Amino acid sequence: MSVSNIERQHSEERSVVTKKHHGQKISNKIRKKMQRGEKFFSLEFFPPRTVTGAINLTSRFDRMGLGGPLFCDVTWHLAGNPSGDSETSSMTIASTALNYCGLETMLHLTCTNATKDDITLYLKKAKRQGIRNILALRGDSTDGGEWKSQENGFSYSTDLVRHIREQFGDYFGICVAGYPNGHPDCSSYEEDLQHLKEKVDAGADFIITQLFFRSEVFFKYVQDCRALGITVPIIPGVMPIQGYASLRHLVQLSKLEVPHEIRDAVEPIKHDDEAIREFGVIQCTKLCQELLDAGTPGIHFYTLNREVAVREVLKHLGMWNENPAKRPLPWRPSANAKRSEEDVRPIFWASRPKSYIHRTQEWDEFPNGRWGNSSSPAFGDLKDHYLFYLTSKDKPADLKKMWGEELRDKTDVAKTFACYITGELNAAGVKVTKLPWNDDELALETSLIVEQLAFLNSHGILTINSQPSVNATPSNDSKFGWGGPGGYVYQKAYLEFFTSSAMVNILLDVLEDYKWINYHVINHDGSKEMTNSDEKLPIAVTWGVFPGKEIIQPTVVDPVSFHFWKDEAFALWKQQWGRLYPEGSHSGEVIESIHDSYYLVNLVDNDYVRGNRLWEILQKVVSVGPSAEAVSNTPSPSD
Ligand code: FAD
Repeated sequence: MSVSNIERQHSEERSVVTKKHHGQKISNKIRKKMQRGEKFFSLEFFPPRTVTGAINLTSRFDRMGLGGPLFCDVTWHLAGNPSGDSETSSMTIASTALNYCGLETMLHLTCTNATKDDITLYLKKAKRQGIRNILALRGDSTDGGEWKSQENGFSYSTDLVRHIREQFGDYFGICVAGYPNGHPDCSSYEEDLQHLKEKVDAGADFIITQLFFRSEVFFKYVQDCRALGITVPIIPGVMPIQGYASLRHLVQLSKLEVPHEIRDAVEPIKHDDEAIREFGVIQCTKLCQELLDAGTPGIHFYTLNREVAVREVLKHLGMWNENPAKRPLPWRPSANAKRSEEDVRPIFWASRPKSYIHRTQEWDEFPNGRWGNSSSPAFGDLKDHYLFYLTSKDKPADLKKMWGEELRDKTDVAKTFACYITGELNAAGVKVTKLPWNDDELALETSLIVEQLAFLNSHGILTINSQPSVNATPSNDSKFGWGGPGGYVYQKAYLEFFTSSAMVNILLDVLEDYKWINYHVINHDGSKEMTNSDEKLPIAVTWGVFPGKEIIQPTVVDPVSFHFWKDEAFALWKQQWGRLYPEGSHSGEVIESIHDSYYLVNLVDNDYVRGNRLWEILQKVVSVGPSAEAVSNTPSPSD
């Protein structure tokens, strides 16, 4: 290769790297998958009607995200205030999936009841939220009658595609809908295909089809599209049948005909939901397998906001990619292009990643490579977020069952922490599935230190975040791995907990013999603070060494952001737990007293080679410490 060729190749590589930083259009991701011969899947959701539904959907995004969808998309519904800021609007749900759940997300947009100016406003808003992909649709009439365009609105989705390209150039990736059985409003299948060609010529990047039940229908459709000169990817939309009523409803809406073999199979079991679901999974798996075997690059699932059937189909197909070792980083990055360079975060928000994203959403730049210059970042105020954050959206009655109908004293609180760690039922026979500081499930690696954590919690060391030490574990390890193949990952043991002043006193004494441990101890208003770390410099607690790359250090203990985290961590005592009980009640006072008198402590064991000696230290503390009930009357560490 000549020198100039090498230079050109290098500059091309550089430009690929730069492109990545401007975010990805779904069409580019599809093209890459096709080039590599990797099959993919995507998932459609609709905005739920209630706030509780929206919160549940957010958790569903997290769970379905584990399987590795290429993208998800959110339908446009007029009934749900589609553009607005409400928790249930299409815009909010799509933005949540993208920004907080780390899923590449496409927003549907229709022309129904919207003027050109409305549409422009919607698109500007979507752009502000970081959304880069739009499924451009005409929509249907709201009363089931003939579709009419709005005055100063658009007549067909082609007009919308053109408008997006005129107003926003290349910013948005655009998808359009295709109809393998022809669109019901169109006089002929052939004419509908012509209109599809117009949509693509106007600037659409790929096509998702209406659902269908037989693979040969799709194969013919693709063939006919190609014959007309439509060259963009065509992704088949499929739906596992999940119930008799929903099938009938859907078929009525889309005016589809269900093939006789499916009707014959479903009719005798129509009152048995479980049997229908099982049939649906088998039928859908077979359809998908035929599509994939014939070279279809990926499958789009109409999930109807449910997860079980689609996940089963994907597992049968071998396309459900749940594997923590495939994580690019130890935490899930946001899919917003604005944050694409972000590769380091403070460990404190490890169990509340959405809160971290929320509090840093106004940042213009994100730390990349080193926490470095962002060592004095402005974290957003402790304002509540519509779907999560300080105030739990779970029903108070459900939370009380987990955290205690009545609290006698601090030991009751300690027991709740221990039950959360071990998975054992609490005194009321209820499983404690969450605590105010954990909006994600316990990390897999926590299973390695369950016993130690349970012991500490039942002795008044109320742990909220931890990681064991790791020394050069292969980056494809199923518990600790991240960052791609061929590397080694490392981490220092870390523990963060609330505890009484008495325990803190003992801990500081014990730590005199363990000079390689960094500690940072602070009370709720910051008036008492003890640390042996630098005031400003962060400590790397997770790092990885990969072939041909600089060392990556994605998690730090940063003393500056610890102060911001402290405000949030203490506020959660009152906002989530304390507010469950009436004002002036004894239970409320127990929580209040923990909030006012306990300390938040973080410990880093820098000797990651020797291993997890934090447990040894804390066992010493516990062995001389007072019982959890007795801790409230002891003097504070600086008294
Ligand atoms: P168009 O492409 O505009 O076509 C509509 C009809 O007009 C067709 O019959 C077409 O052949 C004809 N036509 C197109 N151009 C011309 C022309 N120049 N002259 C004459 N006739 C023309 N609905 C929602 O409300 N919200 C959603 O989120 C939503 N998501 C969907 C996602 C997918 C993948 C699909 C397949 C459908 C979705 N729909 C949604 C339903 C969709 O809005 C309806 O199917 C609607 O009737 C057609 O929309 P379209 O964009 O395909 O329309």
